[in-house]
Amino acid sequence: MSYDLTEQQLNIRGEAEAFAAEHLAATEFNATFDRSGWRACAQFGAMGVTIPTEFGGRGAGLEEFVAMFDGLGYAAPHRLGLFIAINAHVFGSVETLFKAGTDEQKQRFLKKLATGEWVAAHSVTEPDGGSDIGNMKTVARAVDGGWVINGIKKYTTCGAGANLHIVYARMDDPERYRLSCFLIEPNTPGMTVRALPASGLDGSGLSEVTYDNVRVPSENLLGKAGAGAMLFQGSIERERACIFGFVIGAMRRQVELATEYARQRVVSGKPIAAYQAISHRIAEMRVRLDAAQMLLYRAAALKAAGKRAPVESAVAKLYVSEAFLENSLALSRVHGGNGFLKENGIERFVRDALGTIIFSGTSDIQRNIIAAQMGVRE
Ligand SMILES: Cc1cc2nc3c(=O)[nH]c(=O)nc-3n(C[C@H](O)[C@H](O)[C@H](O)COP(=O)(O)OP(=O)(O)OC[C@H]3O[C@@H](n4cnc5c(N)ncnc54)[C@H](O)[C@@H]3O)c2cc1C
Repeated sequence: MSYDLTEQQLNIRGEAEAFAAEHLAATEFNATFDRSGWRACAQFGAMGVTIPTEFGGRGAGLEEFVAMFDGLGYAAPHRLGLFIAINAHVFGSVETLFKAGTDEQKQRFLKKLATGEWVAAHSVTEPDGGSDIGNMKTVARAVDGGWVINGIKKYTTCGAGANLHIVYARMDDPERYRLSCFLIEPNTPGMTVRALPASGLDGSGLSEVTYDNVRVPSENLLGKAGAGAMLFQGSIERERACIFGFVIGAMRRQVELATEYARQRVVSGKPIAAYQAISHRIAEMRVRLDAAQMLLYRAAALKAAGKRAPVESAVAKLYVSEAFLENSLALSRVHGGNGFLKENGIERFVRDALGTIIFSGTSDIQRNIIAAQMGVRE
């Protein structure tokens, strides 16, 4: 096991830092969906890192993907909503389509998604509770030539900017609970998208999507009818293992910001760094950063090697997001009143971090997965 990034990872991380410093520096962007940032990242090739070149991707691996987002998060920590949107697009939609799509579906959609020309959103969560995927209410009824979908999906990242929705619904069969997955374009009659203003992760396109007798042709079924749960389980493990590269980058940046501020801020005749309460707080931030980094790169390496890693992925998702929240609060404390003012961009981290502990399954759900996999509980 190596504890260092490879030369290739360091290169791609460095490239991403340089790109973000030049193209994502603006602090003014559309808070509903960060289209300008999306376009810039599409030019950089951020949406197709793991997709073969024949479909417009880079044909690289998951570890390079994580390193790229590590660089983006470091150099543009004010645009984490954009990065979560791209990660949701990649793991919820692009990779799912690549794995389960028919040749015809890939021809129609994959290149547009992998190049970032199109934005895709994936919808699992519903208003009645996202943690319980075994209780979905959105229903797909088989009709001549396709399906009719009814239901409401909530917290759909990218929903506000999407050109394609990947939607999970239960089949209309009271005897058996089975899910299917559908590709739906947003101009389909009966579909309504409502942006959900949130406290953080600005620009992520978070939305509620309503399906009122939405007709979907048979050729838009993704994977086999009734096999949607397996499709989702496959994609969510990779997502948990790899989505938080940008959080690691943001945490690296936070440690630097805390250090710089503590050295230059003088209180009672001394830089606050001279107070043990402050220097220990920053040392703890560094400990959490290092642990988060190792856990995330470990999980990504396992998935890159094609291994199952339910525990390692859940451990990474849980620890990285909680460590990010802790470090965001610590950074804010180091800044005193300056940490509370919007104009300094410090309080944004706390608001963003609150979203990361929920996305892709809450911390409680990650603990449930870990305990169940360990045999501690059913
Ligand atoms: C920023 C953001 C982006 C998101 N993007 C997407 C997306 O793109 N697509 C999508 O489908 N969804 C998305 N979600 C939804 C997300 O997956 C859900 O919010 C999450 O799964 C929790 O569901 P819930 O909000 O309904 O909470 P609930 O399920 O209602 O949970 C409420 C509380 O109860 C706890 N809880 C629930 N069940 C258990 C249990 N069995 N054991 C212990 N504790 C439990 C939870 O931990 C939580 O504290 C996103 C959410 C956020 C915040």
